[in-house]
Amino acid sequence: MSYPVQLTQSLTTKSGIPITFGTGTGTKWQWLKKGRGEDHQGTIDQNLVDLILLAIESGFNHIDTAEFYTTQPEVGAALAQTDKKREDLFITTKYSPGHSKFPALSNGPKEFFRKALKDLGTSYIDLVMIHHPFFNAESPNSFGYSLGSAWKELVDLKKEGLIRYLGVSNYGVKHLEETFAAVDHNPEYYPIVDQIEFHPYLQSQSVGIHEFAAKHNILIEAYGPLTPLFRLKKKNDEGKEEFLTHPLQELLPVLSSKYSKTDAQILLRYTYQKGILPVTTSSQRQRLIDALDVVNFELEQSDIDEIDKVGASFHYRGFFEGLF
Ligand code: NDP
Repeated sequence: MSYPVQLTQSLTTKSGIPITFGTGTGTKWQWLKKGRGEDHQGTIDQNLVDLILLAIESGFNHIDTAEFYTTQPEVGAALAQTDKKREDLFITTKYSPGHSKFPALSNGPKEFFRKALKDLGTSYIDLVMIHHPFFNAESPNSFGYSLGSAWKELVDLKKEGLIRYLGVSNYGVKHLEETFAAVDHNPEYYPIVDQIEFHPYLQSQSVGIHEFAAKHNILIEAYGPLTPLFRLKKKNDEGKEEFLTHPLQELLPVLSSKYSKTDAQILLRYTYQKGILPVTTSSQRQRLIDALDVVNFELEQSDIDEIDKVGASFHYRGFFEGLF
């Protein structure tokens, strides 16, 4: 039995298949490439290609990459190698506008888009987002682009039929309002997705974002939904990383045992039942299969409320710290 959730947007592949949770190619993979100095050489990490192929084989049809990750070529290689038709897959990438730490990688969205099509070996992209809102026309790293002018260039590409859907990432209410103003408040050209960090320890990446997104039919996608299981670390006095103790360590095993599911499945189902589409990843076949299997059970509302409550007693932000 399946327990689907009504989301604010029902996105599909070009052939009309509803999209699954996303499978990511960022975080670990981008830093592995950067660590080897291969981030801008167009090299291909075969381990990542194999992982994407494994995710597709496990049932994912929604693949998430970004200019900044430098993993578009791996997604392109997987598209070339899989038996799946291009129109049965949903490819998401993100324009990197540059911020205080990292300069923009392209001179504007159009240049980024030309490179993305080439890297991905495709004639269209299903969903293109702006990776973050931490830039403006005066920023030294952003080639003079503002939130509004960058968005309008992407809208032009969508009008040409080269992009199926437009979205943003890490945007708060004021950034979305600026974007709406850039298109004269025409909802036809509003973002339909905002991909943000979400997990029980960061239930609202920025103030009021979930309510505002719901009001404007913007689907929230969650990155980092499994954060409580592996990301909570700090350096000890000897400079070594150690895991933090945190309150869900007690609740998650209770719920896993009650529903006969893994801790990861509980967290993914929690995210999904809150009307948020998870973008998750694993290098393990069984974990990938388990992730998609969460459509087949339902958490009681009282258990969701309990995760909310326990989660709210602890705070953890893994990305863009200090910029909100
Ligand atoms: P998750 O929260 O899903 O974390 C993935 C990690 O969880 C992997 O390292 C995986 O390790 C581990 N994991 C998976 N299953 C389990 C399990 N059952 N128990 C314990 N650990 C598990 O997602 P990410 O934070 O990695 O983000 C997903 C994607 O979102 C990224 O790849 C990227 O595409 C996107 N993203 C977007 C950002 C943005 O600014 N827009 C920022 C960050 C990410 P293992 O391989 O060992 O299973």
